Amino acid sequence: MTYRNIVDLHTHTEHSFDGHHTTDVLCRAAIEKGIKTLAFTDHLEMYAYYRDDFDKTAKESFEDTLEARERNKNELELLTGAEMGEAAYEKALSEEVMSTYNYDIVIGAIHNLPDKEDFYYMDLGGDMDFYPLLDEYFDLELDMARWDKFDTLAHLTYPLRYIVGKYHREADMSRYDEIIDEILLTLIKNGKALELNTAGYRQPIGVPSPNEEIVKRFRDLGGKYLTVGSDAHYDIHLGCNVPDAYDLAKRCGFDSVTVYRKREPHLITIE
Ligand SMILES: [Zn+2]
Ligand SMILES: [Zn+2]
Repeated sequence: MTYRNIVDLHTHTEHSFDGHHTTDVLCRAAIEKGIKTLAFTDHLEMYAYYRDDFDKTAKESFEDTLEARERNKNELELLTGAEMGEAAYEKALSEEVMSTYNYDIVIGAIHNLPDKEDFYYMDLGGDMDFYPLLDEYFDLELDMARWDKFDTLAHLTYPLRYIVGKYHREADMSRYDEIIDEILLTLIKNGKALELNTAGYRQPIGVPSPNEEIVKRFRDLGGKYLTVGSDAHYDIHLGCNVPDAYDLAKRCGFDSVTVYRKREPHLITIE
C-alpha cells in the first residue's frame, strides 16, 4: 500500500567515504519522492576517528546538514545525525563526540569486529567457519546495547548480508535466539530503538536487517521504538522500500515508527 508519512532516518551524503551525493542533491531527491522526514547519518568510524580524519567528517557533515536544513525547511524535515560505527569499542570518545554535536539521532552500528575488516570485505565463502565471528558479533552488539548511549541499533544481523546474501551459506540462527532476546530486552529496558534497515531488500539477501522474525520478537517482548532507514548511499535509494518496512512493521504489531529530534523519540503513525 502507499503511505504518506515516509520517514528515512539512515542515509549517507558525500561526507561518508562511500556516499555519492551532496546534501542539496539528496534533499531535492527526497522532496521529489515525497519523503517527509530525512536524517543524514554519515559514517563516523570511532576506532579510527582521528587517524582517518573522521573528526573532520563529523564537523563538515554536521554543519552542511544544518545549512541544508535551513535551505529546505519549507519542504522537508531534515535531521542531523551520525552512524557511529564501532562506537562501543571507543566509548569515551564516542560520548565526547555526541556531546560536541547537537545531533537529532545517533545510530549505533557494528560493521567489523575489533582488528578485523568490515564483513563487507571478508571472504566468508567455502567452508570457512563463520560461527566464531557471529558469536563475537552478537556479544559486541549486546555490549553496545548495554552501553546505552545511542538512539537506535543499526542493522542487527548485518553479517548475514554477506554470509547468506553474498556467499549463499546457511546460517543456523537458532544458536543466537537467546542473545538476540537479550539484546532486544536491553534496548527495551533502556528505552532505545531497534532500526529496521531496508538495504537488504535491494541486496542479494532480499530481506531487511533485522528480518521480520526479529522485529516481531522485539514487539512481542515489549518493543516500542522502531526506526526505519534506507541506508541510501545514492539519491535513487532514498526512501527505498520504506513502504515494505511499514507493511512489515504493521504485521509485527507496530502502528507507528519513531523519529528522533534532539535525541528524543517521537512516535509517527504509520499512515
Ligand atoms: Zn551501517
Ligand atoms: Zn549506513
